[in-house]
Amino acid sequence: MDNAELVARDLRAVWHPCTQMKDHEQLPLIPIRRGEGVWLEDFDGNRYLDAISSWWVNLFGHGHPHIRRRIRRQLDRLEHVILAGFTHEPAVTLSEKLVAATPRRLTRCFYAENGSAAVEIALKMSFHYWKNLGIPGKTEFVSLHNSYHGETLGALSVGDVELYKKTYAPLLLRSRQVASPDAYHRDAGESESDYAERQFEHMESTLARHSERICAVIVEPLVQCAGFMRMYDPVYLKLLRDACDRYGVHLIADECAVGFGRTGSMFACQQGPVEPDFLCLAKGLTGGFLPLSAVLTGENVFAAFYDDYETLKGFLHSHSYTGNPLACAAAIATLELFERNDVIARNRALAGVMRETTAHFREHPHVGDVRQRGMILAIELVKNKDRREPYDWRERRGLEVYRYGLRHQALLRPLGNVVYFMPPYVISEDELRQLADVAWEGIQLAAKDR
Ligand SMILES: *Cc1c(COP(=O)(O)O)cnc(C)c1O
Repeated sequence: MDNAELVARDLRAVWHPCTQMKDHEQLPLIPIRRGEGVWLEDFDGNRYLDAISSWWVNLFGHGHPHIRRRIRRQLDRLEHVILAGFTHEPAVTLSEKLVAATPRRLTRCFYAENGSAAVEIALKMSFHYWKNLGIPGKTEFVSLHNSYHGETLGALSVGDVELYKKTYAPLLLRSRQVASPDAYHRDAGESESDYAERQFEHMESTLARHSERICAVIVEPLVQCAGFMRMYDPVYLKLLRDACDRYGVHLIADECAVGFGRTGSMFACQQGPVEPDFLCLAKGLTGGFLPLSAVLTGENVFAAFYDDYETLKGFLHSHSYTGNPLACAAAIATLELFERNDVIARNRALAGVMRETTAHFREHPHVGDVRQRGMILAIELVKNKDRREPYDWRERRGLEVYRYGLRHQALLRPLGNVVYFMPPYVISEDELRQLADVAWEGIQLAAKDR
């Protein structure tokens, strides 16, 4: 089997996610045969450094032996069992470990298979909590401009990335988006924290005016990943937690992308530090091996649902594969890797190398911003640097960087005109340098006058 053969079969049978399929008349589809560490290999033997952790799910590299072993061991015992009325050891152990690893307030785990489902669950639980308490009229959610919380209809309703949302707007729930603390938009000379505090006024006034109708505020702590890797100061989380308490509104932290050491702490909300009422986890939860998500919440929420059956206060939500034992085993193995190694400290060193190897990008005439939180580094390409005028999206400049990367051993998949690194934590310093070189050359090419 070679690349061409598998691609031909693929294009007859597969419909790919987040893809205009006609693009593949021009753009090569890459069939991957195997993965090891940060490297992927296609059927012709070409290698690609996975700079984006395969859509941010991978933490410790492809095929990590410890996670593989744990899944295999579980596979020999029990592949799956219904989690209603029944339980199994991986679900229990994982719940204990997650409760121990997350902020103190969070004591209960509810499972699903992906991040969007986790967001749907958090939204429904929050709404249902207020209903169970007999507090009427709370039916809306608040989120930030440019936020992303997944693409099922409920999750899409609280998101704000136009590319994914606009088409489906007539189908969506009522929600409000308020101005974000995105530091990219701060004034010259203004600090990120000053800007975050200034922007918080929009949230404060929205809550002051509408809190009686609002169940929860949902945010991606510190980094709006799908929203072009825009970043904001942790002071915003602190202010938000305080306001949610004052106005009687839940705080949902959607850490599907930023959880598990990505931003420099185990969870991004710990940089507030704040304790959310609901914490959504997915992506890296299984180290990138199997689909699994979790919503963690506290005893007060759990207690609002705990009653005689006839009261119909129970949270009667389910997915077929809830708490799948193989996925739970992968997640336990992933948490064990955090217990055995000082991942956060190693990441801090790697983040330093990432910063150094890209320091010169700031001087590029078409780089408007280089920003970083821990193991996420983003480079914003602009048409005009002084005015930070974006390129027309139709020019698809970022796609040039993607194509260049594929020809030079790197999987760099920009978000629009934002090139970013979000590599597995096992990447070496040399590999980071290699990545920076490829990105630089790709950007040179993409930024050429047309
Ligand atoms: C990816 C993501 C989701 C959705 O997760 P899926 O597993 O893709 O459904 C939700 N929220 C955030 C912040 C994400 O980055």
